[in-house]
Formats: sequence, structure tokens, C-alpha cells
Amino acid sequence: MVEAAQIRLLLEQVNDPEIPVLSVLDLGVVQKIYLEANQWIIELTPTYSGCPAMQQIEADILSKLSENGIENARVKHVLSPAWTTDWISKEGRQKLLLYGIAPPVDEVDKSTLFASGPTVNCPKCSSTNTRMVSLFGSTACKAHYQCTECLEPFDYFKCLK
Ligand SMILES: [Zn+2]
Repeated sequence: MVEAAQIRLLLEQVNDPEIPVLSVLDLGVVQKIYLEANQWIIELTPTYSGCPAMQQIEADILSKLSENGIENARVKHVLSPAWTTDWISKEGRQKLLLYGIAPPVDEVDKSTLFASGPTVNCPKCSSTNTRMVSLFGSTACKAHYQCTECLEPFDYFKCLK
């Protein structure tokens, strides 16, 4: 008999295709796992609307479960409340830093985001002496930064609320 905890363990091995160091659990997109009429329901909140990674995540979850003999599962989308970058786990933020991506910071003043970007610590040397090079990095959910101290270019995972 399969239990929700086992499914959770398997989901720990399913990674965000855009940021492979983050599991879907780190990302905070998995809301609930439960059995309904002999079918496992994985409740998933999409991150950025229209983010192409979500379809991939969904397919990866189902194939991971299927590889482990769990065929009776499906993904159910939960759109409300909307996902925010606050849902990225503490562990996930550490993993982002180690991967060289600055985790989201609270962007109090949205207007500064589009002008110069929020103050972000360099993931390599921790300096706050960084500047935004481009509002869009390797994907739409990241901005491209450069550290003025150590000259390291890095991605910043934009805050979303
Ligand atoms: Zn630096």
C-alpha cells in the first residue's frame, strides 16, 4: 500500500527543469497529496503563469511516480492562492545560493525593480555592491546581475507576489 509520505519522497527527486538544484518541493508548488476514489491527486500551484516549465514539471512528476509503480496518479492545478516566491523553502534558498543564483529578496518598492533592480547580495562574495544588467536573465523569472566587487555575473530569482 502506497502512502502519501512515499509519494512526497519521490517528489523530492523531481527537479525544476529551469533550476535543476531545486526540487518541486523546494519550489513550493506541491500543495497536497491525497487519495481520492483510488487515485492519487497531486495538487500543484503553477509558478509564473504561462511558465513553460510547469508542463515539464507535471510530466516529470507523473513519470517519476510511474517508474515507481504508481500509475494511478494525476496532477490537479490549484490556482488560488497564487504561488509567490515566499513559498520557496529555506533549504531551496540555500540551494539557489550554492548554485550561484541570488534568491528572491523582498522588493518593497516595485518601481525600483524596473529602474535599477532591488539590492541583491552577490551569491559568490555576498557583497551588496551589485548592479542589474538586464531585467531578464536566462529565463523570464530571473534578472541578470553583475557584482561590482568580484565581477561575478549572476542570475537573480525575481520576487513574485
Ligand atoms: Zn561578488
